[in-house]
Amino acid sequence: MIEDSYKQRGLRNKLVKKMREKGISDERVLEAIGKVPRHAFFDAALLGHAYEDKAFPIGEGQTISQPYTVAFQTEKLLISPGDKVLEIGTGSGYQAAVLLEMGAKVYTIEYNRKLYEHTRDFLPLLGYKPYFFYGDGSKGIPAKAPYDKIIVTAGAPGVPTALTDQLVENGILIIPVGDREKQKMLRITKKNSKLVKEEFDNFAFVPLLGDQGWK
Ligand code: SAH
Repeated sequence: MIEDSYKQRGLRNKLVKKMREKGISDERVLEAIGKVPRHAFFDAALLGHAYEDKAFPIGEGQTISQPYTVAFQTEKLLISPGDKVLEIGTGSGYQAAVLLEMGAKVYTIEYNRKLYEHTRDFLPLLGYKPYFFYGDGSKGIPAKAPYDKIIVTAGAPGVPTALTDQLVENGILIIPVGDREKQKMLRITKKNSKLVKEEFDNFAFVPLLGDQGWK
């Protein structure tokens, strides 16, 4: 079991307060951020930084997303308990843990073999059990489709049609789209089989690789 001390809980409450100040207002998202022990995802050397609102390296040149980014994307997905959610880019598993805390059923796919193996073995130890997949998530996971919600946690050059094809009617895709340095957050909602697009702020993600990503 991982240790969740009084101090860690205090820092986590402060982080929740900060999310609120930055404009996150969905109480269920805030509650989930307040529950997931983010410090458990950090190496000993970086432990002191676990509750800062920053992205951090997790090995293999990849990162654990900034808490605000996780909260922002999660809020825009309008998660209801029982939603079937596909996450592209498992990474550390932190985002998947937040979705699971909200009662979603999570399918998560990672393209980096070592990260996939690490998180598949580690995350369940914290009690978080999404369905783990290894492979190119830019094509979605057609075998398990359709999904109520899809979240892409890497920066894409465009909106992969494979992903919008795998959404249910009224389904929502949240995806950062732009160049390799910065991306605009897009929310695509499937309404009457049409795709309605909304644009939000800029973010900076690591690149989405693969068939519908960067070569
Ligand atoms: N959601 C993660 C953050 C992920 S960082 C978290 O909560 O920690 C982005 C991740 O996307 C990296 O781990 C990277 O390896 C992965 N990735 C990049 N291209 C991908 C692809 N085509 N399919 C699946 N994962 C991909």
